[in-house]
Amino acid sequence: MTDVKSAFSIERRGLDLRFRSVTLADREWLAPNYVRVRLEGADLAGFDSPGADDHMRLFFADGPAESVEELRASPSREYTPLAWGQDWLDVEFAVHGDAGVGAPWAASAPLGSFVGVGGPRGSAVITGDPGAWLLVGDETAIPAIRRFAASIPSGTPARIAIEVVSSEHEVAIDAPVAVEWLHRGDAPAGSALIAFLDGLGEADAPGEDPFCFIAAEQAIVKPGRALLERWGVDTAKAVVKGYWKRGEAEYHAPH
Ligand SMILES: Cc1cc2nc3c(=O)[nH]c(=O)nc-3n(C[C@H](O)[C@H](O)[C@H](O)COP(=O)(O)OP(=O)(O)OC[C@H]3O[C@@H](n4cnc5c(N)ncnc54)[C@H](O)[C@@H]3O)c2cc1C
Repeated sequence: MTDVKSAFSIERRGLDLRFRSVTLADREWLAPNYVRVRLEGADLAGFDSPGADDHMRLFFADGPAESVEELRASPSREYTPLAWGQDWLDVEFAVHGDAGVGAPWAASAPLGSFVGVGGPRGSAVITGDPGAWLLVGDETAIPAIRRFAASIPSGTPARIAIEVVSSEHEVAIDAPVAVEWLHRGDAPAGSALIAFLDGLGEADAPGEDPFCFIAAEQAIVKPGRALLERWGVDTAKAVVKGYWKRGEAEYHAPH
């Protein structure tokens, strides 16, 4: 399936692990269960995230930590850096209810609240040009999908499918192709995405030498890998990942 002109690879890069102390500066609801927050602080100088699906760890401490050890002892969860500057960092959260630490913090922590940022400590960067793109995910993968979508050259074949509850939960995504919104309604998270992936046959591949990113509730991994096999896509040129696991707090996806 490779074509020399469109060959690409995923390059792994290590980054110096740094811990930064920042505060919650702003909150904007983009959908009933989806919020963008802005974190601010001089510590963010030099922050970098070269890979679109990089993750950092946010530490939800009660107040400014005296040491990195103290920070690391507070509850933490993984998030995707969406956009940043010298002293700000935007992050988007799926607000999935009252359970957990990260979602309730994003929904209701008072402005000015302290939060620690650890990492990213490594990146996977696409080098070269994929011949086509497939981006598939639930709300937790929207930030990574936004970043990948921004780098798709216009004219390159692409499909982007995102699962949300209903049309009311869709958010604006800047992409060169229309997003295929899948609505799960009352069905378990991931069910609409699984049906979508299972329904993709060989003829539905967006093009030659595609980069495939598939991330959502852990049950997505099996149908995601099966799709790569049907399409003959090398797993080294794809990301298929459980971003969270039903019924399990602080799920650690295998990296
Ligand atoms: C590489 C990577 C990048 C990620 N980037 C983002 C991101 O940018 N934005 C984002 O919102 N999430 C992102 N996630 C997912 C996020 O880390 C998890 O959803 C995390 O569990 C949220 O923590 P919590 O404290 O809210 O819930 P937890 O305390 O971890 O879980 C409490 C309960 O809520 C359930 N739960 C967790 N997440 C969800 C969900 N989305 N929907 C329904 N139920 C859920 C759990 O199964 C558990 O029963 C990412 C995950 C990975 C691995």
